[in-house]
Amino acid sequence: MINSFAKNLLNFLLPPACHICKLPVKEWSNPYICRICWDKIKFIDGPVCPRCGMPFKSEVALIKSPDFLCGECREKRRYFTKAIAVGVYEGTLSEAIHIFKYQKRQAMAKYLNAMVTNVLLQRLSDSDIIIPVPLHKKRLSERGFNQSLLIAHHISKRFSIPLCIDGLQRIRWTRPQIELTKEERLKNVRGAFVVGAGFKPVPTIKGKKIILVDDVYTTGATVNECAKVLKKGEAKEVVVFTIARVG
Ligand SMILES: [Zn+2]
Ligand SMILES: [Zn+2]
Repeated sequence: MINSFAKNLLNFLLPPACHICKLPVKEWSNPYICRICWDKIKFIDGPVCPRCGMPFKSEVALIKSPDFLCGECREKRRYFTKAIAVGVYEGTLSEAIHIFKYQKRQAMAKYLNAMVTNVLLQRLSDSDIIIPVPLHKKRLSERGFNQSLLIAHHISKRFSIPLCIDGLQRIRWTRPQIELTKEERLKNVRGAFVVGAGFKPVPTIKGKKIILVDDVYTTGATVNECAKVLKKGEAKEVVVFTIARVG
């Protein structure tokens, strides 16, 4: 194994290239994305739909009525109370998640976790347990890790909220949501989750305030299906947390 002195020397002589702009990453600890590119992450800190967290272009509707919901939330039944996301799923943030999830650079988690902590420090209300969106066991063995569990683990440790790894189980193989249309996504995840790990006793979720963690919120089909199952299991409240959200 390369020792840290040799590693530092190597980084000095041959700095790693930024995955986005391809320029050398200098004087900055993140070896994958340079400071200039990292600073382009668009945080979601303006007016949003109070239910699904979709960014609104203007604050006008919310000033008139703070509970003003986006079109989708007025049309569809949402089983979660609200969804919080750190940033918009585009450019740097989508690349960072891609490096983390598909290139399996788990060291990237450190930089994503720092963002998560900053955002949650301001917004996390009292919660009883934290549950990650589970992967199907076949997908888990392909990828080697569950990205949502790693994020959930960080939040659990940082905010001292118990982590319930077996809160949900994915019992059916589903196609990757990314390949599907909005309608297909709903169908794809319907009935895919159950409360508990099957072989173990069902964890107590009754009456609990739950934070449900996933990496990206696209249409909300996956987290809504998970929230539905948790509410059926008599969870008191489900708040969704994702690193990124489609804007
Ligand atoms: Zn760059
Ligand atoms: Zn909404």
